[in-house]
Amino acid sequence: MDDNCSNQVAKQTTNSVVKQTPACIGRFAPSPSGPLHFGSLVAAIASYMVAKSNGGRWLVRMEDLDPPREVAGAAQQILTSLESFGLYWDGEVVYQSQRQSLYQQKLEELIRQKIVYYCSCSRRAIENRNQAVYDGHCRGQLKADRLNSQAVRIMFAGGFECFDDQLCGHCQFYSKADKQDFIIKRRDGLFAYQLAVVCDDIEQGVDHLVRGMDIIDSTPRQNYLYHCFAKAPPIYYHIPLVLDGAGRKLSKSSGAPRLNENNKTDLLLKAFSHLGQKVDAAMLDADSEELIAYFEKHWQTELIK
Ligand code: GLU
Ligand code: ZN
Repeated sequence: MDDNCSNQVAKQTTNSVVKQTPACIGRFAPSPSGPLHFGSLVAAIASYMVAKSNGGRWLVRMEDLDPPREVAGAAQQILTSLESFGLYWDGEVVYQSQRQSLYQQKLEELIRQKIVYYCSCSRRAIENRNQAVYDGHCRGQLKADRLNSQAVRIMFAGGFECFDDQLCGHCQFYSKADKQDFIIKRRDGLFAYQLAVVCDDIEQGVDHLVRGMDIIDSTPRQNYLYHCFAKAPPIYYHIPLVLDGAGRKLSKSSGAPRLNENNKTDLLLKAFSHLGQKVDAAMLDADSEELIAYFEKHWQTELIK
């Protein structure tokens, strides 16, 4: 292991004497900015299968933290689609929009540790000082200024730039942008994704975290937050993205087509083969529920590439 990789994940895997069996709780955490598309179906399936093939639970959390980016009705559409593909979640769906008091309480823990500060810099002011990497200008502003709308940033000292991923192996981040003090509450008063996702995953006991590769560069920041809250980070699986014909990530914002649910067997087979799974010819005529049940038995995480 590299000398400079002194983060908690590495320490835990090498130093733990008593191996605790994780409960195995996975989750799918869509943002309701549009209906389920093929890329999010793949993420849903992978997180479901990793949890279920380990005898675990699979949770669904709606990441509706940012009302302006939401599309009315999308949350319900996503849930209906998941059920129609035979992906049934355990327990109640959690909505981030209803969890402000949890995030506020966790923010106050960080305030008490004196590792956060109030930042009044506009994006332009930061750009004028240097190339968009935040320079820690407002470190020391430990009290909110009531006259100003301010973001809350957390001091990020480094030491979290590497971690082990079950699919991507040992990952290390070098860019300056990955080490800057980051925002945990925005100046418009909304809690930032980085804080909310860690609070929720801790509170829900998520220990097997499966999600798209596009989020992998958030992992060092999130591992730092786990460290601040004195919690062990989850086991990570960052899965390969689904790209469109032009090599761009399929996303709601780039206009990914809505799934044609008349074609569920084909879509599921395509998703499983994107995830490297072997599809038995006998399954070509199976319906969604049969396919999900089949792969719960035959799923092999190590085939994902
Ligand atoms: N809500 C995020 C998304 O839809 C996923 C966040 C995560 O899995 O950590 O892309
Ligand atoms: Zn500032």
